[in-house]
Amino acid sequence: MADDVLSHAATLSERTIDFRRRLHRRPEIGLQLPGTQGAILTEIADLGLDVRKGTSTTSVVAVLEGASDGPTVLLRGDMDALPLTENTGLDFASEIDGTMHACGHDTHVAMLAGAARLLSDRRADIAGRVVFMFQPGEEGFHGARYMLDEGLLDATGARPSGAFALHITSTFASGTINTRPGPLLASADTIRLTVQGKGGHASAPHYANDPIPVACEIVIALQTMVTRRIDIFDPAVVTIAHVTAGTTDNVIPPTAELEGTIRALSAETRSRVHELVRQVAEGIGAAHGMQVELEIVAGYPVTVNDGDFASSVHAIAGELLGADRSSVMKTPIMGAEDWSYVLQEVPGAMAFLGACPPDLDPDTAPGNHSNLVVFDEAALATGVATYAAVALDVLSR
Ligand SMILES: [Zn+2]
Ligand SMILES: [Zn+2]
Repeated sequence: MADDVLSHAATLSERTIDFRRRLHRRPEIGLQLPGTQGAILTEIADLGLDVRKGTSTTSVVAVLEGASDGPTVLLRGDMDALPLTENTGLDFASEIDGTMHACGHDTHVAMLAGAARLLSDRRADIAGRVVFMFQPGEEGFHGARYMLDEGLLDATGARPSGAFALHITSTFASGTINTRPGPLLASADTIRLTVQGKGGHASAPHYANDPIPVACEIVIALQTMVTRRIDIFDPAVVTIAHVTAGTTDNVIPPTAELEGTIRALSAETRSRVHELVRQVAEGIGAAHGMQVELEIVAGYPVTVNDGDFASSVHAIAGELLGADRSSVMKTPIMGAEDWSYVLQEVPGAMAFLGACPPDLDPDTAPGNHSNLVVFDEAALATGVATYAAVALDVLSR
């Protein structure tokens, strides 16, 4: 079966690459991606799928009904681009200034459409259903949550027994599949904090109440908090990445503002860090007679791969591509994904598809979110085959 799926995907390679390039030229940002949605609907129109468009976003849910009854499997590709100007010099580079498919979601859409075509060709052998989830708004817009709220998991009447997503990356060798059981990606929450002092003349701080040293103390104390109070084997990252205060050299400002991110690999550590950030920031403010206003904006939860599911993805990819092209990642990555919302509901996994151009080194190649990132399109057939093989495996259980 394995060789067969890979060669089948190879026959779709030209079409997949062509579709990807068309998407790449016309990137869209956020939850409303009408051009991308239209392109998907056209690309899958001849496959005989039951297609539904989202109501709150421009998502597409397409269901392939197999020839006989069986389980349901969900496959996902996200659709959105990022606000940056492409500088790759590719002949199919973005035609929209300030917008670029720098996270490779164009490749995800094209590979998912390729998998839909491959599996449709095999409908006669399929017992069960495949749900293809084309999702807008992954880059911070919680697009997956909108789709879940609209009944994604009940699209066929039967809940999926497995769910799988790929993410392309230039930081792994081309044509490799890389995943791990358990936490794969971190949770990501935003800290917004204002230290309320009292402004005055810089020469007479005792008549004012200077928020700047207090804000600095908070930045340092948060790092001490992370190393002294968080279990090193269930780690967290707290980064203050944005500091604003003051206007000139001889005025003490009334306030100082800090912004940053909290990353964690378990729900427990995530909520513990929230609690401790508040304790540290408010406590240091109080020690200096200042109020601290703190807002923690919840972003994506931890992306946790089901252990058995991730192991079977690893095994399937090994069979499909050769053992040397399927790896178990030693550590998670501290980025975040809204695929986490789906994995909270359905046992499943995400895997990284390596697509470093062959003339570059995965350790130094421009990465996802860079305006220079380039993905090796030869990897797209590997992605199509992996989507299809994982789906067929879930359906055969
Ligand atoms: Zn991204
Ligand atoms: Zn992404």
